[in-house]
Amino acid sequence: MSYEKLRHLMVEDQLRARGIKDQRVLAVMESVPRHLFVDEHLHCRAYDDCALSIGEGQTISQPYMVAVMTELLELKGDEKVLEIGTGSGYQSAILSMLASEVFTVERIQTLAERARRLLQEQNCTNVHLIVSDGTIGLPEHSPYDCIIVTAAAPHIPQQYIEQLKVGGMLVIPVGSRFTQILYKITRTPSGISSSESTPCIFVPLIGKDGWGSEEAY
Ligand code: SAH
Repeated sequence: MSYEKLRHLMVEDQLRARGIKDQRVLAVMESVPRHLFVDEHLHCRAYDDCALSIGEGQTISQPYMVAVMTELLELKGDEKVLEIGTGSGYQSAILSMLASEVFTVERIQTLAERARRLLQEQNCTNVHLIVSDGTIGLPEHSPYDCIIVTAAAPHIPQQYIEQLKVGGMLVIPVGSRFTQILYKITRTPSGISSSESTPCIFVPLIGKDGWGSEEAY
């Protein structure tokens, strides 16, 4: 079966059938070649209903989780987005097609270099990749319309809220090392409002305001 066909089935069976409704999210996930963001021996499994290894003990998130998180951001096209946890670069590529500018932060140099190359090959010229500890956010380019964290946090770092515009949104998995809840948090004029989305399992957010590297594994 062609990758195009596999991608179409992924969108129909894993996303639309499970309630993803945002037409822009569905269209972009049908167009981005996810298989190119994993190693060649995993190309044939890239459209499976699961996360896959990308090396360094990290993973590319399950397609459904990418869709849920992206849909929660309610992107219209003119937003400045901060992503914490570039990993493969797949989520960054999706965001680049739905927002105007994407800043993405990765702590592991080798993953960042590979993602940078892949994003260039996909012509995602509005993505800026920074190697650093994303638990402190990226204050120099704040404030953001949206912040999306694709690694599991033990708590919500306060600096993420401070780096959001009023009315801006943070999507973040928060919980223990092995199971979390996905939260959508909106910055309001007087503080925050928050709602719970779905249970999930992410690799740990490691850094100054996340998990320590020894307690994470
Ligand atoms: N969005 C990614 C998912 C990658 S998994 C994708 O589409 O492939 C989560 C990533 O977060 C890992 O690559 C991990 O190294 C990174 N990460 C963990 N803690 C981090 C931190 N403090 N700052 C930046 N990246 C971090």
